[in-house]
Amino acid sequence: MVERAVVQLFRGSGQPFQLEHVDLPNELEVGEILVQISLATICGSDLHTFTGRRDAPTPCVLGHEAVGVVLSSRRPGVVPGDRITWTLADACGHCPRCIDWNLPQKCERLFKYGHAAFADNYGLNGCYASHIVIRPGTAAFVVPENLSDTVAAPANCALATIINALEQLPKRCDRVLIQGGGLLGIYACAWLAQQGIAEVYCVDLSAPRLAQVARFGGIPLRIDQTPPTVDLVLEVAGTSAVIPQGIKALRPGGHYIWAGMVHPETALQLTGEAVVRKCLTVRGVHNYAPPHLQVGLEFLLANQERFPFQQLTSPPMPLGQLDAAFKRAAQQKWQRVAVQP
Ligand SMILES: [Zn+2]
Ligand SMILES: [Zn+2]
Repeated sequence: MVERAVVQLFRGSGQPFQLEHVDLPNELEVGEILVQISLATICGSDLHTFTGRRDAPTPCVLGHEAVGVVLSSRRPGVVPGDRITWTLADACGHCPRCIDWNLPQKCERLFKYGHAAFADNYGLNGCYASHIVIRPGTAAFVVPENLSDTVAAPANCALATIINALEQLPKRCDRVLIQGGGLLGIYACAWLAQQGIAEVYCVDLSAPRLAQVARFGGIPLRIDQTPPTVDLVLEVAGTSAVIPQGIKALRPGGHYIWAGMVHPETALQLTGEAVVRKCLTVRGVHNYAPPHLQVGLEFLLANQERFPFQQLTSPPMPLGQLDAAFKRAAQQKWQRVAVQP
């Protein structure tokens, strides 16, 4: 076991990452798990932080999508050698948000990996690092043996969020429109196809992404094509410009789920009348609760022959080249760029 961990410190937008050494904790608290990270992926929200579109305490260690191996554990049922992934939110488990509203991801004492100050949690709280300490209020799941690190890493963000977003479908749901062919949209295509939804359309500006949509059970739709009338629209484009199209495409009584607009430049061009007269249900979804991640891992395992999940993530780049990895992620050739300590 190494004595010290290596982390890549984010010091602010436009500044290069800085390699830092951190002592591993001598002793863990009850419920904590010390994990050696095997592989992490760069999420769109990490890119947003990197480019200054999203605030982060600096310095901090970014990265929240990862798989790792347990080095030591003070949690019953989790033992050294276990290959695990974990929820990106740590919750208290006692407050109304956790207990009464089933929104642990909005816990009053929420802690999010990859978004915390470097000083917190032993300095080991982000995934662009050799190690991380998983806190007592974070759910950890063993990654099935037949699931590669590459396929499993984005499950604890994009996939689990999609499973949460699509948990409640309209009573009759034969046709869906997905707005956005990023990783959320691709997972949504596969998830809905696997649920037996007959027609899953996915609209995006990018031709390579549309080609990918077809490989994941979706029907690609160019931006200049008019979508058919649908029962459900899922916004994962991250822009409010797509909302009028979604409202228009919905049948009366349809559902509109918003999951991509996670930044403030999302003012809407929308009348209340459009929602009322069509009897629409609009639901915002942000992150997820632990069971969604469990379902996500099972979904990947059961469907990895049917859908080419491994094509979504780049071959891993060394952690020491995190700046280059972020540049690569920004080019959007890959849905995810992988980083390996
Ligand atoms: Zn993410
Ligand atoms: Zn709570």
